[in-house]
Amino acid sequence: MSEKTEKMREIRDEVIDLKKSPLYEYRVENKYHPVLGKGSHDAKIMFIGEGPGKNEAETGIPFCGAAGRILDELLGHIEISREKVYITNIVKDRPPNNRDPLPSEIAIYVPFLIRQIETIQPKVIATLGRFSMKYIMEKFGLDEKLGSISQIHGKIFEADTSFGKIKIVPLYHPAVAIYNADSKDELKKDFEILKQFK
Ligand code: URA
Repeated sequence: MSEKTEKMREIRDEVIDLKKSPLYEYRVENKYHPVLGKGSHDAKIMFIGEGPGKNEAETGIPFCGAAGRILDELLGHIEISREKVYITNIVKDRPPNNRDPLPSEIAIYVPFLIRQIETIQPKVIATLGRFSMKYIMEKFGLDEKLGSISQIHGKIFEADTSFGKIKIVPLYHPAVAIYNADSKDELKKDFEILKQFK
């Protein structure tokens, strides 16, 4: 087994057993799965969404419902396959009724996200939605560049990490485009930025 696969399995096993999470009971009661992430461990581009919805918690696969279909369309638009990228979320268990994740929940799951980032060592982190945007921008010392998502979506930021320089690209969450064609066009345009990093 490769070293990366081994590290990712350790992360998975710890999250499966994360009894201290306030979302753990809800997962067990509903026979849900934690959603660790999916894709290539050598991905150049890593997408970070918000948290699993019902479909994702039932299958353990990120972005496999309505928002996932939009994400697939956006990846198709720039001719990148899901297998080439890595897709995960800031929170690994479903918050009840798809409510926003609480700061205390985010705090419990982010150490796992950081370990995933350090294992995969992507060239680009594309955040999907404002929760992962805020966390990642602050984590990588870009507090001063942080604005509202409508101000900074589709821009490229540079950050230093323990494994070298990376780019951070904040994007709108694909769910915004489920009922709104204008935001889908905007998302498509933003995704085109990622083409250069394929
Ligand atoms: N929304 C997210 O943020 N993540 C998923 O995995 C699904 C929907």
